[in-house]
Amino acid sequence: MKKIVKRLKEKPILPPDLAASKSVFFRKPGNESVVGSGTYGKVFKGLNVYTKKLVALKKIRMEGERDGFPVTAVREIKLLRSLGHKNIVQLQEVMVEANDCFMVFEYLSHDLTGLLNHPTYTLEPGHRKHLAQQLFEGLDYLHTRGVLHRDIKAANILVSNEGVLKLADFGLARFYAKHHQLDYTNRVITIWYRSPELLLGETQYGPAVDIWSAACVLVEIFTKRAIFPGDGSEINQLEKIHAVLGTPNAKDWPNLVEMPWFALLRPTYRKPNVFEDKYKDQLTTAAFDLLASMFRYDPATRPTASEVLNHPYFTTEEPAPRQAIELKDIGGEWHELESKALRREKEKKEKEREKERTRAAQQQSGSKVEGQDTNSARERERKRPNEGGDKQREAKRPHI
Ligand code: ADP
Ligand code: MG
Repeated sequence: MKKIVKRLKEKPILPPDLAASKSVFFRKPGNESVVGSGTYGKVFKGLNVYTKKLVALKKIRMEGERDGFPVTAVREIKLLRSLGHKNIVQLQEVMVEANDCFMVFEYLSHDLTGLLNHPTYTLEPGHRKHLAQQLFEGLDYLHTRGVLHRDIKAANILVSNEGVLKLADFGLARFYAKHHQLDYTNRVITIWYRSPELLLGETQYGPAVDIWSAACVLVEIFTKRAIFPGDGSEINQLEKIHAVLGTPNAKDWPNLVEMPWFALLRPTYRKPNVFEDKYKDQLTTAAFDLLASMFRYDPATRPTASEVLNHPYFTTEEPAPRQAIELKDIGGEWHELESKALRREKEKKEKEREKERTRAAQQQSGSKVEGQDTNSARERERKRPNEGGDKQREAKRPHI
């Protein structure tokens, strides 16, 4: 019989700050280690004191839980454990520490919101294409495995400092029945990224909802702006979509009249599709063609992730996809959190400058000068949905 000898690994000698860490994952004190804060609570950056590898610790909110460990977290963990792909964030373990529970992930320096809002760095066309390709490779993997993500948006897409993209935040994800149709909740996906069928109350939906959201993200990768920045209500969100894609009709979307809330939310106006006028100049021919197909009203006619990957935009149109290895040198780490802080800082400065201008004008003319009109669309663009969090938190609960 072979004898198994267990030798304890020698403990490395640690620098004093790491040696003093009570946790295996060293964290800077207070808010310094927070990299994200969302629906569940906070996400912290940590350093494994033994391996020196970085991790992201997603704290599981236990407050208000009557039945012990939250069932939504159990679902997220179970789902993540069944996945393994280069474009899906890797869950390393679940850790209990003191009175807290954490999901431990590999750490990535950026998310797409942070990156697209970087004050100086701009992605080249080849980089954009490579990021898009990785987004759809991740989605293709999920959809073939029978998983719907249901919260695709820029803040849930992580990017490493070498330009590798990974889908994250599986808090709303679920397995779906591939060969028959079941009912799921339609209160999923952050509203700006929500497809028309979900907005019209459809509960028998499929992977096409993720394709719609991914198309919205793709527009943001190209233009740095959200395509449908609504005010948070379903009706306004539909209006935003109509304003670009025109009002839907039964010819393009035969099932339109079957949608549960069709009569309730039926537009009283007719609008033409102006997507081409608005975006043609900002996109290459193939990119435009691909986006137009993903923004089809009828979910049945939207391409699958695998069809997207075979589109000429990826396969033939120049330039070829190129990994954004340059991200190594941009300095700093850019997540939604940092970009929000930067934006707040900018807004504060802008306000002060504005005040200064008004004061100067008043002094000059000796009369009162009206403050400049705030462009409401721009305001909203800065104020992304989910910042209040309540609506979204409510939406994260139903896991059906
Ligand atoms: P929530 O359900 O609260 O939205 P997320 O999983 O989306 O939680 O995490 C919130 C934010 O934390 C993300 O938008 C991202 O900026 C950051 N984050 C999440 N996971 C990681 C990770 N593995 N590495 C680096 N940052 C991360
Ligand atoms: Mg999130």
